[in-house]
Amino acid sequence: MLACTWALLRRPCCGGETARWRGEPRSATELGAHTLTLMVLFLAAVLGFALLPQMWVRRVLDRHSTDRPDIPGTGGEFARHLLDGLKLGHVKVEETPLGDHYDPDAKAVRLLPQHFRGRSLAALVIAAHETGHAMQDAAHYPPLEARTRLAKQAMTLEKVGAVVMLAAPIMVALAKSPSILVLEFAAGVLILGLSLVLHAYTLPVEFDASFRRALPLLKAGRYIPDRDLPAARQILRAAAFTYVAAAGMSLLDVMRWLRVLRL
Ligand SMILES: [Zn+2]
Repeated sequence: MLACTWALLRRPCCGGETARWRGEPRSATELGAHTLTLMVLFLAAVLGFALLPQMWVRRVLDRHSTDRPDIPGTGGEFARHLLDGLKLGHVKVEETPLGDHYDPDAKAVRLLPQHFRGRSLAALVIAAHETGHAMQDAAHYPPLEARTRLAKQAMTLEKVGAVVMLAAPIMVALAKSPSILVLEFAAGVLILGLSLVLHAYTLPVEFDASFRRALPLLKAGRYIPDRDLPAARQILRAAAFTYVAAAGMSLLDVMRWLRVLRL
């Protein structure tokens, strides 16, 4: 084996003059094909990561979004009722097209039109989930305060990541070197990935709002029949994942920009 020195490894013992080092790319074209395959796999993974949670959340909410005659009030009225019962009369309940959320700065529970005006199981449960966030805020629940800070940082990171990735073609044109493209792309992915991690960090806050605040509220007030409890749990889980699903979709938006730029 001593004969198999580094020089010989370049021309393996069992091979011959034409034998290649295992896995050594044949040419720049082959290298390009490898990179392309990796990029396609990476994009497929990102698409899956971004789309699947969103699709699941939407499916769960759609399944329970039909108005029911046995539900006496709208989601907006229910949120108001819960907040008043919790002595949180200062918290506003508003309609928004931007997605259900609680705004700790404005002290407002905001619901999508179908949840604000709807009399569906999804409308009631989402109203209870957002009320759960108002309860966290009133109790100065430290993870909520940390999440509010992190969410703001994640938004900045997403913007930086998008700019870095979008600047890649310009940088390549200026530097005339494709390796800059790879570096820029990697930096952009890293920054965007980090912002997703920050969003995922907020999951425990979401689960607390759903299962330690909203669910006990729904059970204690006997607001929904026992037979609807399994569905309510599923909606509460979907509500907890909405935030992460939305973060995934923002990543997908960047991917769409990149495709437009033929990067
Ligand atoms: Zn939430």
